[in-house]
Amino acid sequence: MAKAHILGFPRIGAQRELKFAVESFWRGELDEAALRQTGKTLRERHWALQAKAGLDFVSVGDFAWYDQVLSTLALLGAVPTRFGFDLKKLTLADYFTLARGNPDHFAMEMTKWFDTNYHYLVPEWTDDVRFDGGIDWLFEENAEAVALGHQTKVTLVGPLTLLYLGKIKSGFANKLELLPRVIAGYENLLARLKQAGVQWVQIDEPILALELDAAWVNVFAPTYERLSRNAPSLLLATYFDHVRRHADLLRTLPVAGIHLDLVRGAGQLDDFVNDWPADRVLSAGSIDGRNIWRADLDGVLTALQPLQQKLGDSLWIASSCSLLHVPVDLAHENKLDAETKEWLAFAAQKVEEIAALKQALNGNRAAVATQFAASAQAAASRKASPRIHNSLVQKRLQEIASVTATRATVFAERIVKQQARFQLPAFPTTNIGSFPQTVDIRQARAQYKRGEIGHLEYLNRMRDEIRHVVRQQEEVGLDVLVHGEAERNDMVEYFGEQLWGYAFTANGWVQSYGSRCVKPPVIYGDVYRPEAMTVGWSEFAQSLTSKPMKGMLTGPVTMLQWSFVRDDQPRETTALQIALALRDEVVDLEKAGIGMIQIDEPAFREGLPLKAADWPHYLDWAVRAFRITASGVRDDTQIHTHMCYSEFNDILPWIAAMDADVITIETSRSDMELLDGFGEFDYPNDIGPGVYDIHSPRVPRVEEMQRLLRKARGVIPDARLWVNPDCGLKTRGWPETIAALQNMVLAARTLREEI
Ligand code: GLN
Ligand code: ZN
Repeated sequence: MAKAHILGFPRIGAQRELKFAVESFWRGELDEAALRQTGKTLRERHWALQAKAGLDFVSVGDFAWYDQVLSTLALLGAVPTRFGFDLKKLTLADYFTLARGNPDHFAMEMTKWFDTNYHYLVPEWTDDVRFDGGIDWLFEENAEAVALGHQTKVTLVGPLTLLYLGKIKSGFANKLELLPRVIAGYENLLARLKQAGVQWVQIDEPILALELDAAWVNVFAPTYERLSRNAPSLLLATYFDHVRRHADLLRTLPVAGIHLDLVRGAGQLDDFVNDWPADRVLSAGSIDGRNIWRADLDGVLTALQPLQQKLGDSLWIASSCSLLHVPVDLAHENKLDAETKEWLAFAAQKVEEIAALKQALNGNRAAVATQFAASAQAAASRKASPRIHNSLVQKRLQEIASVTATRATVFAERIVKQQARFQLPAFPTTNIGSFPQTVDIRQARAQYKRGEIGHLEYLNRMRDEIRHVVRQQEEVGLDVLVHGEAERNDMVEYFGEQLWGYAFTANGWVQSYGSRCVKPPVIYGDVYRPEAMTVGWSEFAQSLTSKPMKGMLTGPVTMLQWSFVRDDQPRETTALQIALALRDEVVDLEKAGIGMIQIDEPAFREGLPLKAADWPHYLDWAVRAFRITASGVRDDTQIHTHMCYSEFNDILPWIAAMDADVITIETSRSDMELLDGFGEFDYPNDIGPGVYDIHSPRVPRVEEMQRLLRKARGVIPDARLWVNPDCGLKTRGWPETIAALQNMVLAARTLREEI
């Protein structure tokens, strides 16, 4: 009989209970016992949901107070030693200090978990790091589940993934030197889990989906030989992409089973099923853990049936990866219309889909006939819905070959015309877009949304804010102004709400890091711009000043990357649709007299596929989407773009190919070093490297920014250098913003004298 399981359930709670409890605890408003009770209640609820649906195991170990990587370190006793904590008696408060820092210790670094928007805390490998046991929360959680009568499967971040994702801080030249200690730690842990009666451990090794060096691939067999000696049955889980090239290795690894992501790595099954060892489980990750679409159960079943014939009892049905990456429960969704809702499945619904598939595979199709019928009905409705297919967009797409994705002339000629038009001084100063989002602004937006104030009143309040932002910038003496983005709650949501094809959930929260959650919009249909989105604001802002006012848009790749994207057409097709809509906006801005238009692409780099071999394809369509957006304007209209939190060096040819007249990037935290690559590459167009970090209220001194600018001058020719902060200022307060910008303008002015 096929078994059913998931790789993990979101821990945050359908109403973000964990977030609110953790934040109250941090504020000292909730005591530890009450916080622990919230965690316990959530775990119980999530296990009950899995058991009730008919999964064969409930998932234990997917709960974490902040992050699963940090929790694994705490369990092993391998948290960073620099905090000086007693590793065996780590308290909840200590745990949060590791994640968030305190006045004496900076927080652990945080970075993105593979190509997801989830951030994990980066392990710190020092010569004194130990793996000889830490705190026993996992054991307690497992005991809780067992006491409730559940069959458990414990999930752990695997030893090689943990080691790989950490950073060497001292003592080693190569992370693999630490491997013997890591193995000893996991051996201990697994032996204890076995002793505690745990039968299955899911051990996650997603690094197998990367392009791993041979040195890393080669340690898998010896590592798992050691670990399997005295351990519960191990299910080694891979996900986020295919692991085809490791098929031979995985087939012979001494573990009880392997999990494959059959959504991202759809075609890889062929490499595994033939001569799959009879005694080994193959877990088929068939339900998408990365997206919110309801599965076509008949389709999935048809794909699984031949597999079942080959594998028999060895086949398990699963989510493709942990459900951490999707919202918790569609039942709590009251904003979406009934039709769209019918097309979706959040974590709770996905659990039911997996359970239904299992039933059907095990010959009980009749028992789940209603579920299958509803799924088929939803699939048919989605395919046929006029809301998905927009003939206006289809027509544009067919003509896209005739859309020139190239500016009329090359940069060297355009920039001359732009200089003649704008007459900017050397090292022109500007901002990235947003200004402080004060309580007043948020209140006005909220009141307008709730219908408490009318359109005109809202407009007036926003216009007052724009007036204020423009006046402040003029007083500070900036050269190129922005309107401040007061009307925007979020850079994607603001545009998505004005485009056809986008839907917004009321409660579709997904954990981003710690207690932070995001609510990605859903792109369900052809994207179409029914009318101009930003022109009124930009036009008004420009009317207040004789300085150039930048129009401000979110680019097609970021609009795509920060949304749940439709799965019935390639991502690139959706990107092109968005690009066409934005292109019209760019042209409308130009018509309204806006001479500079910034198209933000902060998510450009994070869209890169996991395997470098797949990069060129992505980069080609991503660049094309940007160019389609940007290329409908005259030579003397200046296109800006902005990117932050990025490592750019390996994709510089593509950044150059975007051919923005000006790019602003985040560089201050790298002490300008990120700019070196642009210099070596001879990046041809204008650049504004960020001269101060906007993440803290600290006001940078003039000399600090002068120093960074001098560094930048050493790399980029004077004629092409702009001066700006790292990113938008919406999280800052006004006093520090003014002080910082005054210093920045002063730094630029003094530097002009050095030319
Ligand atoms: N224009 C946006 C802002 O200033 C850019 C934000 C971003 O890069 N994340 O807020
Ligand atoms: Zn930014």
